[in-house]
Amino acid sequence: MCTTKAELVAALAVRPGRRAVVMTMGALHEGHLSLVRRAKELADVVVVTDFVNPLQFAPDEDFDTYPRDLEGDVTLLREAGVDVVFAPTEEEMYPREPLVRVDPGPVATRYEGEARPTHFAGVVQVVAKLLHLTQPDWAIFGQKDAQQLALIRTMVEDLDFPVQIVGVPIAREDDGVARSSRNAYLDETERARARALSEALEAAAAELRAAREAGGRATPASLEAAARDYLTQAPGVDPDYVVAVDAATFLPAEEEADEIVLALAARVGTTRLLDNRTFTLRQGA
Ligand code: AMP
Repeated sequence: MCTTKAELVAALAVRPGRRAVVMTMGALHEGHLSLVRRAKELADVVVVTDFVNPLQFAPDEDFDTYPRDLEGDVTLLREAGVDVVFAPTEEEMYPREPLVRVDPGPVATRYEGEARPTHFAGVVQVVAKLLHLTQPDWAIFGQKDAQQLALIRTMVEDLDFPVQIVGVPIAREDDGVARSSRNAYLDETERARARALSEALEAAAAELRAAREAGGRATPASLEAAARDYLTQAPGVDPDYVVAVDAATFLPAEEEADEIVLALAARVGTTRLLDNRTFTLRQGA
């Protein structure tokens, strides 16, 4: 395991071949491991970063209590055949408050960014640094954090980062709940209530099927409404947003869009959870 930039550079120098990076905040679960498996399919050398990035947490958020298990993570990553683990300290990544910042642009103020105004600026800052430090051919991200994935794709495109961004489908528990390090915050009742998020997306899928069977076409607004209605009536679940967006830009979906991402966030107890699903609205798809 490398904890300094110098160790990382040395570890990469002795491992030739095409490289993929998976960036994580640790407390690894099956979702992270599915990204690692994709990385191994693509690349000769797989690097995983394990760093709870303070810049993407607001002062009132869960930075201090965010689950951490570096030893467990390293064991899992070794078993998964990862070549290099980079787990820097905060001091190593940010020896001082950064003065030059990556601006994530207008999409960063919507949806997740509305609830967490400084979040995406912190995300793109650390992703830009980790891309420069690891210099990968591929960087693998989960579709679980779909707005983050869209913003990273946009950053790489707009700033000409020489890397290919790869999205991996959401890994779910048996009951449909998206795997997340923050699921550890849920008690038994809340964990059962958390099913409402994926069920709301299933309600939108049912709406799409019903529209097709009636010979019509579901619209982004009708899918939003179906998911929102479901979430609003779910006990113990406080919906934040339900939105149909363009998958590439994360801007609101056009009424005539062929493919959309339906993204939602809700609070279950004090824990904020996310989920999303891609829908093809085109007839015959
Ligand atoms: P995190 O450690 O939560 O910052 O996540 C690190 C990476 O793993 C991000 O690219 C996430 O989108 C991805 N990820 C987290 N949970 C899942 C999941 N359930 N399925 C797929 N990818 C995930």
